[in-house]
Amino acid sequence: RAAPKRVLSLLNGGLADPDAPLLHADDLGVLRGEGVFETLLVVGDQPVELEAHLARLGRSAAMLELPAPDLTAWRACVRRAVAAWSEEPAEMVLRLVLTRGRDPAAEGGPRAVGYALGEPVAPAVLAQRRDGVAALTLTRGIGPDLAGHAPWLLLGGKTLSYAVNMAALRHAARMGAQDVVFTAADGSVLEGPTSTVIVAQGTTLCTPPAELGILPGITQAALFRAARAAGWRTRVRRLKVPDLLAADGVWLCSSIRLLARVHTLDGQLLPDTGLTSALWRLLRFALPEPCLHG
Ligand code: PLP
Repeated sequence: RAAPKRVLSLLNGGLADPDAPLLHADDLGVLRGEGVFETLLVVGDQPVELEAHLARLGRSAAMLELPAPDLTAWRACVRRAVAAWSEEPAEMVLRLVLTRGRDPAAEGGPRAVGYALGEPVAPAVLAQRRDGVAALTLTRGIGPDLAGHAPWLLLGGKTLSYAVNMAALRHAARMGAQDVVFTAADGSVLEGPTSTVIVAQGTTLCTPPAELGILPGITQAALFRAARAAGWRTRVRRLKVPDLLAADGVWLCSSIRLLARVHTLDGQLLPDTGLTSALWRLLRFALPEPCLHG
């Protein structure tokens, strides 16, 4: 069986062998999780919402007091990765990674390390676009108003410290679910470990506010823009778990999986009101290529 196809493009220029070692053992991205990342979809030769992802990379970098990303260099890095990817498969997952690099006491000169790693979309992700997910609500334990006055918690930053998010997904898998809806200490709905929560209440689409300390979702924003253009109402508002159970639909939304309907929450079947195909149509309108699965 052929190894899955991958491409690696370096921020400082050039392509590299994705199977060769890249980082130093003492890179602070590895030692401390000190770094930031973005994951975006490339369809054909189009990086979807690239500028929004670069802007959010900059926002996350600022939260970690990393130097502001060099946007020109990042655009070139992405272009190289896209050019190195041939047409098949049509969709590529592109991860932009920026680490703090080596400790300055150990090494002088420019330190931050950046690269873009392209891979195929995992079959499980394609299946979840089609079939949706069973999700569990799991507490993150934080108060809903913590983000504003505890910047050191990096809430809402897309840092390399995703170990908690991955542990939550493994916990869900042990319980027979494929995804998670994080909640705050007061039961407020936050986000998924890698996704934004979207709820339909009639023809109003709702999502929780970023002020809760969650990542502002790029896919959610694109979907909401398309929804408003098509005559839906959209609202950013706080939701509790009973709001999810009573909603006309709950979805997890993110750059690669795009849209996954939550068909079961905490073991309870959620009604299928048939809105998923309407949301897929909005997403196809919002994104550059009409050929996405779903
Ligand atoms: N929330 C978290 C914690 C995420 O990691 C992600 C994406 O991976 C999202 C939300 C969805 O964001 P986007 O639509 O920008 O991919």
